[in-house]
Amino acid sequence: MPQNEQTYDVIVIGGGPAGYVTAIRAAQLGMKTACVDNWTNHCGQGSLGGTYINAGCIPAIALLESSKIYHQLKHEIADHGIDVGSISIDILRMQKRKDRIIDNLSRQIADIFRHWGIDSLHGKGRLLTNKQVEIYTVDGEQQDIISAENIILAAGSSPMELPCAPVDGEFIIDSNSALNLESTPKRLGIIGAGVIGFELGGIWKKLGSEVILLEAQEEFLPHADQEISREAYRLYTKQGLDIRLGARVISAKKGHKKVTVEYEDKEGSHCLRLDKLIVASGRKPNTENLSAPEADLLLDENGFIHVDENCCTTLPGVYAIGDLTLSGPMLAHKGLEEGVFVAEQIAGKLRSINYDTIPNVIYTAPEIAWVGSTEQALRAIGENIKVSVFPLKALSRAQVIGKTDGLVKMITHAESDVILGVHIIGAHASELIAEAVLAMEFSGSAEDLARTIHAHPTLAEGIHEAALALDNRSLHLLPAQS
Ligand code: NAD
Repeated sequence: MPQNEQTYDVIVIGGGPAGYVTAIRAAQLGMKTACVDNWTNHCGQGSLGGTYINAGCIPAIALLESSKIYHQLKHEIADHGIDVGSISIDILRMQKRKDRIIDNLSRQIADIFRHWGIDSLHGKGRLLTNKQVEIYTVDGEQQDIISAENIILAAGSSPMELPCAPVDGEFIIDSNSALNLESTPKRLGIIGAGVIGFELGGIWKKLGSEVILLEAQEEFLPHADQEISREAYRLYTKQGLDIRLGARVISAKKGHKKVTVEYEDKEGSHCLRLDKLIVASGRKPNTENLSAPEADLLLDENGFIHVDENCCTTLPGVYAIGDLTLSGPMLAHKGLEEGVFVAEQIAGKLRSINYDTIPNVIYTAPEIAWVGSTEQALRAIGENIKVSVFPLKALSRAQVIGKTDGLVKMITHAESDVILGVHIIGAHASELIAEAVLAMEFSGSAEDLARTIHAHPTLAEGIHEAALALDNRSLHLLPAQS
C-alpha cells in the first residue's frame, strides 16, 4: 500500500440515486465516506445525481411537465372558458428551465455531502485488488488511489447501442440526447416502445412532433398488466402516437438532413424518412472498465454483476447495487433502497429488501403505475384470484379536473383477500400507487382498503372503489360496469 494513500470506511463508485444515497446513509451512520463520480455537466463541472438527475428521469419529467402545460393551453383550456389567444413555444427556454432544475438538485446533493463530511471525488473509479480504488480522468490519466474496508459499486447503466442504427449525435441520437433537443423535430422516429421510448415519444408528441414508435415485439408494454397496456395503446394512439408493433428496425442511415430507416414487419419491409431518430432499445450496466481484471469481479455474459440477496458480490467487502445487478428492475428507487440497505448492513443493522413491492411508473400523460403481479402472470401459475376494474371517469374529482381517462385494477387472492397487484393508468398514477405499495408492504387485504376512509372528492378514491368493486360494492358505479 503506498504511503499517504487515503483510506475510508466506505468508498462508493457512482453518484446516482443508488450511490449518493449509500454515501449519505453511510456518513449518517458515522462512517468515513468517499463518493467517486465522473458526470460532467454542460459547464464542464462535476454534477452529482447520475443519469437519473442529469440525463434521465428528472429532465424527462421536467420536459413532460412543460409539454403538458403547452398541450393544455392549446387543447384543453378553452373548455374552462379561458381564452389565451395564440400561444407559441420556446424550446430553448424550456430546456433552460430543465437545466436549472438539474443544477439545483445536483447542488442539493453536494450540500448534503458537505454537511455529512463526505469526500466527493470527481473522476472515474476503478476497483483494484486489496480493496483499492483507482481514480482517473475521462482521458484515462490516473489521479489517485484510495482504499476502504467496504466498496460499493453503483456505476449505473447507459443506453445500449444498436449496430443497425449507429448514433451520430445529430440525426440519430440516444435517449440522453433526446432530452436536449433545441427545437421540435417535425417527424421523429423512435426505435423501441419500452418505457424510455414511450416516455420520450409522449413528450415530443405533445410538443408538436409527428412521432412514430417502432417496436420489434408484437405486444405493447409486455411487462405491464394486459388491461393496462391495452388501455395505454388505445389512449396514446388516440392522442396521435403512431405505435407500430412487430416492427424490427434493420437499418438507419443519415442522408441529407434526414434519416432513412428501414424496418420489417409481417407485411414485409418498409422505409421511413425522418428528421430525427432516437435509439431507445434498452440499457446496459456500466461495468466496462469498472474493475481491473486482477480484481476478479464476477459478471454475467451481459455485463451484470453477480450479487447475493445482500447485494454482496463474490469479493469480500465489495457490494453492487442499482442498475449494475439483475436483482430487481432498473429503477432509481430500487437502487436508492439498496443503497440504504447496504450502508445499514455495513453498520450492523440487519434488515432486508422487499423486491415484491417495488412500484413501477411510466411517466407519460396519463401516467401508468403498478405494484405486484399482473393478472396474466397470476393466471399462468393457476392462482385463485379476484379482479376488479374501476374506471376513473366515475370519480367526481376526475370529472372536475377534466382527467377522466384511465382505470384502477385490483387483484386479490380469492380466499385470503390479500392484495396481489394494483395497476393504474390515469392522472397522478405515480402518486396514487403509494397507497397500494403501503397496503401490500403490510400484507393488507382489499377489505383493509375498503374500510379506510378516503377524502372525497379525490383521485385516491379510485383505489377505494376498486377495493369495493371486488365484492360488487362500488358506490359510484353500476355493478355491471365494474
Ligand atoms: P426496454 O428494454 O424497456 O425497451 C426497449 C425496446 O426496444 C424493447 O421493447 C425492444 O423490443 C425494442 N427494440 C430493440 N431493438 C429493436 C429494433 N431493432 N427495432 C425495433 N425495436 C427494438 O428498454 P428502455 O426503454 O431503454 O429502458 C431501459 C431500462 O430503464 C428499463 O429497465 C426501464 O424500466 C428503465 N427505465 C425506467 C423508467 C421509469 O421507470 N419511468 C424510466 C427510464 C428507464
